[in-house]
Amino acid sequence: MAADHVIIGSGINGLVAASLLALKGRRVLVLEREATLGGCLRSEEATLPGFTHDVMAATFVLFMTGPAGAELGPHLARHGFEYCHTKHPTGVLRPDGSALVLTMDQAQNVAAFNALAAGDGDQHARDVGQIAADAPFLFALLGGNLWSWQTAKLLFGQMRRRGLRGLAAWMGSALAPARGWLEANYQSPLVQALWAPWVLHTGLTPESTYSAQMGKVIAFALEAAGAPIAKGGAASIVGAFKALIEENGGSLRTGADVERILTQGNKVTGVRLADGEEIACGSVLASVAPGQLFDRLLEGTDLPRDRTAVRQFRHGRGDFQLHYALDAPPKWRTDGLDDVALIHLTDGIDAVSKSANEAERGMLPETPTICVGQPHRLDPSRCPDGKAILWLQIPDAPRVIKGDAAGKIKGREWDDATREAFADRLEAILSHHIENFDAIKLARRAYSPRDLEAMNMNLVGGDPYGGHCGIDQFFIWRPFAHSTNGTGPVRGLVHIGASTHPGPGLGGGSGFNAAKRLGA
Ligand SMILES: Cc1cc2nc3c(=O)[nH]c(=O)nc-3n(C[C@H](O)[C@H](O)[C@H](O)COP(=O)(O)OP(=O)(O)OC[C@H]3O[C@@H](n4cnc5c(N)ncnc54)[C@H](O)[C@@H]3O)c2cc1C
Repeated sequence: MAADHVIIGSGINGLVAASLLALKGRRVLVLEREATLGGCLRSEEATLPGFTHDVMAATFVLFMTGPAGAELGPHLARHGFEYCHTKHPTGVLRPDGSALVLTMDQAQNVAAFNALAAGDGDQHARDVGQIAADAPFLFALLGGNLWSWQTAKLLFGQMRRRGLRGLAAWMGSALAPARGWLEANYQSPLVQALWAPWVLHTGLTPESTYSAQMGKVIAFALEAAGAPIAKGGAASIVGAFKALIEENGGSLRTGADVERILTQGNKVTGVRLADGEEIACGSVLASVAPGQLFDRLLEGTDLPRDRTAVRQFRHGRGDFQLHYALDAPPKWRTDGLDDVALIHLTDGIDAVSKSANEAERGMLPETPTICVGQPHRLDPSRCPDGKAILWLQIPDAPRVIKGDAAGKIKGREWDDATREAFADRLEAILSHHIENFDAIKLARRAYSPRDLEAMNMNLVGGDPYGGHCGIDQFFIWRPFAHSTNGTGPVRGLVHIGASTHPGPGLGGGSGFNAAKRLGA
């Protein structure tokens, strides 16, 4: 047998699983169809030589605070992986130039919020305090193996502590939408605007069930742990993983497109690559979207329930990325933004809601919600001395374009002209806030949802999160209502990746959970 475990896909989940299993002495083989390892972890000189951009994922707070990061962090550090920080993880900048910046000092945040509206700071302390108090329970649900005795015991313990009605009430309040949370509890439109766009990064909208809880978790995490990026670029962690896996006898191959998972009597026996090569193995961990798993890799296998479920599985909004190389740091027209890792450009809840809704209806948003990262401030090694780069993420791009909410862009598919016209719209919003923008702009590079999918086929339609993250496709129901920890009727096959619990992000949770179940 060529390997104990074949891992399909070299994204964060595949790399975490491979590392943990290799550390336990298992023979692991990671197969990646693209020419570079890393999936959404990709750093390139995308604009100009000497300017290193994280083409896709950039912020490592989920990895840093999660169990995979805790266990593998020291090994990766040994292989050169390092975080870069700022004391100002996030902020919001409204069209009128008003802004609010979060620091990593809670007392300072409480004072700043209270100064905007009496009581808003105290409410903030209560919200993040509640997340801290619930952390062991909440984070086990958000990240752990849900179908397990551990979770059953945890729920039973909570029921004893809170009473059945108390636990039911806790679950009920956890389902609240962010709009309700923010409008009922915060008076300042700036505080509301600070948190509203963050729910988009969880694949939700301000009106989604459970988005209040996700908003509070993000507030807690950013305040406590910041918004770290990787020194030298997100791909540096991929290099560290590769060294760790190889050091422990594992191997990784690029240009290895798996086209079939081979089975005998409903048990995995190996995989077949697109060029016909067959590799025998004891188990397969497949970090792919459900459509590919059941319609391609398991084509012909008798799995009627999964095949029906895959037709119901929904992907979320598309994502658009825009990168700038700048001749000098931006001079923000509003003070206090120079050292902020991630700044949202939005007017507030209604604006966030409008752009998300437009994107969900297939419209190019009239005023998209923009997240601006300033990696050079955290990691000056990303560009030549005195220069700067910007990382813009637009979590509200339609997967399929039916129209333009502003009635101006005529394109109905993500071709080059539509991508650049949409990038012009974003640039107009950005440049409105930066005094020296025209003088410092050297180059830009835009990636449409279609471009993202072309680089990583798991990003179906440019959906960055491996599937819609509404509650019916989350927790024990991800990817399917009948899913059980990524396992099913094919013995030896584990489904991991963003499309499975605990969902998207750089936490690497599904790879971690799968490796632990396999004895790592
Ligand atoms: C633009 C963008 C920005 C993001 N920003 C952040 C961020 O800042 N912070 C954060 O926490 N999260 C972020 N996310 C989300 C996060 O990056 C993803 O949820 C996560 O990286 C997905 O990891 P994964 O393990 O599911 O695999 P992926 O990273 O999706 O990788 C899967 C790999 O499998 C390969 N593959 C697929 N099929 C096959 C096959 N048949 N054979 C061989 N190989 C195959 C693909 O080529 C790909 O390389 C972002 C996502 C995107 C798209």
